Amino acid sequence: MEALKRALRKSPEKLKLLTELVEASIDGTRDIFVNRPLNMANIRYIGFDMDYTLAIYHKQAIEELAFRKTLEKMVEMKGYPEQILELRYEAEHVIRGLLVDRQKGNLLKINRFKQVCRVMHGTKALKSDEYYNDKIDQSDLVRFVSVDTLFSLPEAYLFVLLVDLAEAGDLPGRTFAELYDDIRTCIDLTHRDGSLKTEIIADLPRYIYKDPHLSLALDKFIQSGKKLFVLTNSEFYYTEQVMSYLLDTDNLEYESWRDYFEIIVVNARKPAFFKESNPFYRVDEENGEDQPMQETSFDSKAIYSQGNYLTFEDLIQSKGNEILYVGDHIFGDVMRSDKDSNWRTVLVVEELETELRHTEELREKHLRIRRLANRFDKLHYEMHVYSSQLDTLANLSAPLVDDFNEAETKAVTKTVEELKTNLALCQKDMERTELKIQRLREEMSAHYHPLWGPLFHDHDEMSRFAVQVRDYASLYTSRVSNFFFYPTDRYYKSLRDIMPHDRWMELSG
Ligand code: IMP
Ligand code: MG
Repeated sequence: MEALKRALRKSPEKLKLLTELVEASIDGTRDIFVNRPLNMANIRYIGFDMDYTLAIYHKQAIEELAFRKTLEKMVEMKGYPEQILELRYEAEHVIRGLLVDRQKGNLLKINRFKQVCRVMHGTKALKSDEYYNDKIDQSDLVRFVSVDTLFSLPEAYLFVLLVDLAEAGDLPGRTFAELYDDIRTCIDLTHRDGSLKTEIIADLPRYIYKDPHLSLALDKFIQSGKKLFVLTNSEFYYTEQVMSYLLDTDNLEYESWRDYFEIIVVNARKPAFFKESNPFYRVDEENGEDQPMQETSFDSKAIYSQGNYLTFEDLIQSKGNEILYVGDHIFGDVMRSDKDSNWRTVLVVEELETELRHTEELREKHLRIRRLANRFDKLHYEMHVYSSQLDTLANLSAPLVDDFNEAETKAVTKTVEELKTNLALCQKDMERTELKIQRLREEMSAHYHPLWGPLFHDHDEMSRFAVQVRDYASLYTSRVSNFFFYPTDRYYKSLRDIMPHDRWMELSG
């Protein structure tokens, strides 16, 4: 609260800030969700990734820029026809969590059983039967590429458009895999040769959203005794510009963005940071050159680069479970740190805010579909009961038929008839219910996304993306500043795990 009071006192727009904070504090889309219990009282260090974590990008602007720069490189370096420069970017076409099938030229959404739920070939939707006999082996990295960061969306959409052009005969002599590889090489270069970042730096407000509550959340952590650090794959020159834009001009009592952080590591090379043993370097800010780190503890005035998590833990004299790392990249930030180190993790999923807003808009339909699904499950259970009674009766009575008197035969026949009638009624009801569920489900899916449906589900199953979020992140939330609305020593408790047999009483009752 001290941070808030100080911020309000200094702010020329006190009322606006206060109103926004109150609104955000009751906005359910800004909640923090818990996969695994996490006691913040045990956390000493909190680390932050920069891009798409501390820095939230304006989606259309940054993706369009990456798309355009990549197209230019494809024409210049790979000899693509200039016609491709006329392609237009559509930011909503592709979602995170999809797989690119380089071989077939498709984009796939798969569920937790690795079944393909949706397929697009270019902009054309295909039936998922296309993959009926095709086991999706995600470890086949030659064939499948995962769209697992928001940075990957432009390349996936560009692939969609080039597949269309190839099908129209405008890109002869290139396989789908070659198209994808050319896109990858060129987009990779736009990230590394500065062509993307120079334009971003030249107009930061156009590309980066300045979250008014970010500094408050960081300050609240600092006031409660947590030590903060930045661990980013971005280069120093870029980190400096982006972070100053985000925090330097803020109204708290920090002179520079650097004052919020005890340690700053740039060029961290995640996921290698969690897997390999690169040494730390100290960045010479004058000439941008890295010198091997000599000191035995981090200097809060210095900038470091590369490094690895084990040396990091030694230098700060902390164990993995005292470190919380907040990032947006399932693979680079969260999966590796969870698998290889013992760091606790928070995944930033910025799509959550829109996803939950859609869920809210569909509240009535969600309730209706849940009632229908419960009804379906109950009918399914009843059908099993009737048919097993019928089977048992048929099996047991067959050898006894000749010994039955008339009354006994009548009684058995009556019971069999009753069971058959119940079974038929049940069957009919199930079919009707299933049809209703299907129609409602399609309507609801399209409300989330006309092509891909919801991010975390497909029909009754969790999507592959959802499973990764569940399995690798202790917590997940839409943005860093959401922590402002929670106590800094909160015990984040997970929901009760439910097994299929836990519903037995409900179904059989
Ligand atoms: P972080 O999220 O703060 O760790 O930083 C991500 C960094 O990775 C940014 O500097 C991006 O420009 C960079 N990046 C993202 N995608 C690519 C790529 O495909 N090739 C090279 N760098 C990339
Ligand atoms: Mg990131």
